[in-house]
Amino acid sequence: RSKADGKGCVSFFEPGMDEAARTRRTMEDNLRAALTNGSFHMVYQPQVDVDGNVPAVEALLRWTHPELGEISPAAFIPLAEETGLIMAIGEFVMRRVFAETAHWQDMRIAINVSAIQMRTAGYAAQVMQLAARAGIDPSRYEIELTETALLGDGPATAENFEILRRLGFSIVLDDFGTGYSSLSLLHRFRVDKIKIDQSFVADLGQSEEVNGLVSAIVKLARSFNLGVIAEGVETEEQRRLLTKAGCMEFQGFLTGMPMPVERVQALFEPHTALRQQA
Ligand code: C2E
Ligand code: MG
Ligand code: MG
Ligand code: MG
Repeated sequence: RSKADGKGCVSFFEPGMDEAARTRRTMEDNLRAALTNGSFHMVYQPQVDVDGNVPAVEALLRWTHPELGEISPAAFIPLAEETGLIMAIGEFVMRRVFAETAHWQDMRIAINVSAIQMRTAGYAAQVMQLAARAGIDPSRYEIELTETALLGDGPATAENFEILRRLGFSIVLDDFGTGYSSLSLLHRFRVDKIKIDQSFVADLGQSEEVNGLVSAIVKLARSFNLGVIAEGVETEEQRRLLTKAGCMEFQGFLTGMPMPVERVQALFEPHTALRQQA
């Protein structure tokens, strides 16, 4: 086989692995193609406060695959990160989100950024260019990073972080509590807000320990003077327990599904109309 390939190396792959490698390769090609054939788009999920206002939305990437239909980024971001395609995909996300939201008023927008992007020298400078070209005000935007994104060992991570902050972006620690060093990260990086991971929210009400853990996270956030929001809120009971624990902002299927940009616009169209009349 190796001779027939003419590559002079022996393949140790089982037939099954070969198959997996081919599938992976096909997915990679599809991902690459998706960047140019318009099969990526953004949806926006409301973040709701205790009074039912929507002060912010989170931008979430969607990929409409030719055969598989709509695929969650959870399924393809890891591959995009391994292949380096995440840089181009991340640039698409920034461009698209800035373009779609530049004219919004009184609405904050959260954008997810991958660890690989944060680890890349010059990343924040690129964001600066995109922001300037789109004419957006960075202070209306929140960059959502996971703990892994801040654990990058090179100097680039810290530098990108500082530049993004200086530009005026807020920084949110996503999936808070699931990593290894949440607490030391809070100490090392000046973040603005933490997002309680949905796994804690899902377990709320199942035991006093989980309820206590969530209360402790909220207290921790307060003591660091940080904002706090819970994600994955699906039931009234979860919202009630979160409120009891002192968490006043919610994101989840209970308070709003991720929706296409036109639907978000409709949420505050009346305001826009009034403002234009004035
Ligand atoms: P995340 O940033 O933690 O986003 C929350 C995920 O939970 C989203 O999944 C959202 O659709 C889902 N979700 C929202 N409400 C509920 C709920 O009530 N219950 C449950 N079970 N799930 C809920 P999604 O959109 O599939 O995204 C998955 C992950 O992919 C995101 O997790 C984020 O880490 C990543 N991601 C999404 N968009 C982007 C992007 O533009 N760039 C990068 N680098 N990563 C992205
Ligand atoms: Mg997020
Ligand atoms: Mg999250
Ligand atoms: Mg998550």
